[in-house]
Amino acid sequence: MKPHNFYAGPAILPKPVFQEAADAVLNFNGTGLSILEISHRSKEFTAVMEESQQLVKDLLNIPDTHEVLFLTGGASSQFYMTCMNILGSDQKAAYVDTGTWSTKAIKEAKNFGQIEVIASSKDQNYNYIPEIHGDCAEYRFTHITTNNTIFGTQYQNIPSLACPLVADMSSDIFSRPLNIDKYDIIYAGAQKNLGPAGVTLVILRKDILGKVERNIPTMLNYQTHIDKGSSFNTPPVFPIYVSLLSLRWLKSIGGVAEIENINSAKAGKLYQTIDDSKLFFAPVRNEDRSKMNVVFKIRNEELQDDFLRFSTESDCIGIKGHRSVGGFRASIYNAMEMDGINKLCDVINDFDQKHG
Ligand SMILES: *Cc1c(COP(=O)(O)O)cnc(C)c1O
Repeated sequence: MKPHNFYAGPAILPKPVFQEAADAVLNFNGTGLSILEISHRSKEFTAVMEESQQLVKDLLNIPDTHEVLFLTGGASSQFYMTCMNILGSDQKAAYVDTGTWSTKAIKEAKNFGQIEVIASSKDQNYNYIPEIHGDCAEYRFTHITTNNTIFGTQYQNIPSLACPLVADMSSDIFSRPLNIDKYDIIYAGAQKNLGPAGVTLVILRKDILGKVERNIPTMLNYQTHIDKGSSFNTPPVFPIYVSLLSLRWLKSIGGVAEIENINSAKAGKLYQTIDDSKLFFAPVRNEDRSKMNVVFKIRNEELQDDFLRFSTESDCIGIKGHRSVGGFRASIYNAMEMDGINKLCDVINDFDQKHG
């Protein structure tokens, strides 16, 4: 039997997606050719691109004010591409510092405009979501990381500000509904909650472009990709196709409203098990706990390696915590089934009974 996969990223995909992707590697849509060798200008692949963009719009309720792009370079390239495209060098942008990924975003942004860190949870090793004071009207945008993959915090309520948001949603996009009106740009590396590594989803408001003075290299200009339907150069065809399969799966089970319920049930059960145990605890403030990445620790640190070994032997793979936090992290993205949660809870309970 396949082990339960709790890796943070690249991460689990829905079960049926693996078989469908494997089929398409051998014979894509009855063409007799592999998805890996088909032209990105073929009508078969053009259909994949169009359906993918449409499904993103349908699932997240994106109106025509916004465009959907599938780019390369990872979420890390969006740290600078966002600012390069929409932040004038004399303009101010606000950033909320909620950990490693926002810190990296802040560093890149500083190359393009005046960056102010308006809130931070660094004082407590990022175990909470800091409050934003004021309405941020003076900023071109405010940047947030909606889910902090490493520290296990997540905005349960997205702030309502007087300026637009730019959001890194790499690890919780499609985990719940969103209100697109609040955002100028949303970006997400696919490999957490959407598809395989190699493609980055960008959703952006169209009328924000063309307003900065600087020269933007063609490939880094969002307008280039909008004009060419996200196929200016060769797009990452296979990651896009597999992402499409996962979007179809999400639609088939009821979309983001339904998956939000499922995700809440999964996370609720896992946190409850941790809270009820004697040995384990979750360091993140209750109301900011991530439903995607559940960070937990063990009171008796000498038992840490034992628990890792025990969980691996019990078919729960990938729960070693990030080095900057220590302890454990169970990533329980959309594709993680309740079965996997139940198994991990059993493992926690068994270990707790033996050693707690
Ligand atoms: C993984 C991750 C990134 C980095 O993504 P890459 O695609 O590897 O560049 C950025 N932000 C968040 C929140 C992440 O989880």
